[in-house]
Amino acid sequence: MLQSRLFSKTLRDAPKDEETANAKLLVRAGYVDKLMAGAYSYMPLGVRVLKKIEQVVREEMDAMGGQEVLMPMLHPKANWQATGGWDSIDVLFKIKSRTEKEYALGQSEEEVVTPLVMSRIQTYKDLPVAVYQIHWKFRDELRAKSGLLRGREFFMKDMYSFHESQEDFDRFYGVAKQAYLKVFERLGLVAKVTEASGGSFSEKISYEFMVLTDAGEDDILYCDACEFCVNAEIAKQKEKDACPKCGPPNGEARPKGGKGSLTKARASEVGNVFDLGQKYGKDFDLAFMDREGKRQYPVMGCYGIGISRLMGVLAEKFHDESGLLWPHAVAPFDVHLLRLGSTSAKAAADEQGTSSSPKASTVAKALADETEGHSTGSEVYQDLQAAGLTVLYDERAVSAGQKFADADLIGIPWRAILSPKTGDKIEVKRRGSDDVKLVSVSEFVKMLVS
Ligand SMILES: [Zn+2]
Repeated sequence: MLQSRLFSKTLRDAPKDEETANAKLLVRAGYVDKLMAGAYSYMPLGVRVLKKIEQVVREEMDAMGGQEVLMPMLHPKANWQATGGWDSIDVLFKIKSRTEKEYALGQSEEEVVTPLVMSRIQTYKDLPVAVYQIHWKFRDELRAKSGLLRGREFFMKDMYSFHESQEDFDRFYGVAKQAYLKVFERLGLVAKVTEASGGSFSEKISYEFMVLTDAGEDDILYCDACEFCVNAEIAKQKEKDACPKCGPPNGEARPKGGKGSLTKARASEVGNVFDLGQKYGKDFDLAFMDREGKRQYPVMGCYGIGISRLMGVLAEKFHDESGLLWPHAVAPFDVHLLRLGSTSAKAAADEQGTSSSPKASTVAKALADETEGHSTGSEVYQDLQAAGLTVLYDERAVSAGQKFADADLIGIPWRAILSPKTGDKIEVKRRGSDDVKLVSVSEFVKMLVS
């Protein structure tokens, strides 16, 4: 993509009405635009990041047997009355139409997915089933000041599973847990899993997937030797205590801070799983025939991953004082190509596509062709794309300083510079590193695909 055509320009200063690093950086760099507190537009760069996260999540949900669907965001009041959610969930957005009918905007979709799936399930042989969607969700938050971390409207993956027994849900939860951990690992994040009681969904256990980041809103305690992890706020343990799961029995001496002890860290919740039990089957009186030929309600699970929230968490975790540093898996482009020295003949030739004078550009092109051993920006841009790389090409007529500052702010993993000094090579460097290399385009392609 040509940067001159990108309508979402970078801003010199951070917006004054944003408090968090993710919102300040994402607005400044042109990824998102705030419509109002808790609701953002995604600009071309932002959509590319969001789609990358979405695709990683989709691949892992498909791999574990999830079937993708799309359900309405607009729900009839009756479904929410059937489950009690209409009166008990305070963050539920409610809408009244001109016909005086009332509706809810989805904040989770058990009220839609339970009738959708269970009306098609007859016996235990039809189970288990897991369906998911990647879609907008709404929450009537009182405070929405954390950028993409806590929105009133947000992009989310929500999966729902239906089982003949609690044992089968437990088995499936194990599969989902591994899939979730793989999602976060692919995004360059380290996630820990905590267990917590119920919340607003049920009396059952829920699991929270916490990513370690200083920008998080929770403190967790986790074991350095096993999977034990708890939210510090509710825990009986404290930092450097022996792990209650793999540590020694009570009374036995152990050096504080040794292996099998608890570490405290800031973390942000990026996913959750709720064991819903039989609540929703009962609420809608939708059952299946079990192995004994009896009518039975399904055990259900709900599995969320906040896609837009993950984008905010990634921005919080991967940035420095100059801007963003996207992990390659979610970066909007593979390479940011910068052309410097725009007054040279070959640079002028590059402009031929946009020049107002075809004659002048033809002359410039002829001059450039005579300058042997020099690559033009357009050539490098095309060569990189032909090698399968996605490229943001900064061919704007602005100062080198502004190009560098924008490249740092936007945070594409690789920066490639073409200037009169680089000849037929390009000067490449990773975002966040000072290690600069002068290489040919083909050498650079090899570096990136290896
Ligand atoms: Zn442990």
